Amino acid sequence: MKARQRAYLEAIGVEAFEPRSRPRYPAVEEPPAPLTASVRSAVSSDAPVASLDWDALRARVAACTLCELHKARTQTVFGVGDQNSDWLVIGEAPGADEDRQGEPFVGRAGQLLNSMLRAIGLPRESVYIANILKCRPPGNRDPKPEESACCTPYLHRQIALLKPKIILVVGRIAAQKLLDTEAPLARLRGQVHHYGPLATPLVVTYHPAYLLRSPGEKRKAWVDLKFALSVLQRGAA
Ligand code: URA
Repeated sequence: MKARQRAYLEAIGVEAFEPRSRPRYPAVEEPPAPLTASVRSAVSSDAPVASLDWDALRARVAACTLCELHKARTQTVFGVGDQNSDWLVIGEAPGADEDRQGEPFVGRAGQLLNSMLRAIGLPRESVYIANILKCRPPGNRDPKPEESACCTPYLHRQIALLKPKIILVVGRIAAQKLLDTEAPLARLRGQVHHYGPLATPLVVTYHPAYLLRSPGEKRKAWVDLKFALSVLQRGAA
């Protein structure tokens, strides 16, 4: 980030998190893509998830019936963004808007997440965004352990394919599940955790839905984002 931009963001602080505009992501009807060999084999075979490429993984998730959540979903919510990004943002599970549109973080919380990312110089399109669960839990209840257990291999494969340089986890539920802890979010913030076989640096911050309910906490989230950026820059140095 340029020094002038940093000074500007320091000056305006949390205001940088205020959503500025309505969604820039109109739902576009895309023609169905022809099935590639890898997609056909992902759907019809039991090749291990850890061996699937992006297309095959997406197809496997779309066809998943491993837990009860498939019964009520409109569609699966795989993940979105730049598959070559240094950044992976992980949330908990799709909500109603995401279930309808098939994309993570597209509702009000998503708008705030976009503003948070933009405040550190990251347009939404420049990061990859995914959830632990790929299907919406009814009534937005917390994920059940068996649901996370069924879905986590998909996230692990996404991480293996992406090889992000930093993981930003938003919210207590996602952080506790990924870090396998019951520690409160306040204790998980402000430190660098490491995740997975590549020991990817992982930083925790508040869920944007929580920040919508508790706007006074945005300042802390701003601190977390700057911290995550500094961790990435240190790693790259
Ligand atoms: N909350 C999440 O954790 N993920 C979404 O995609 C939307 C809301």
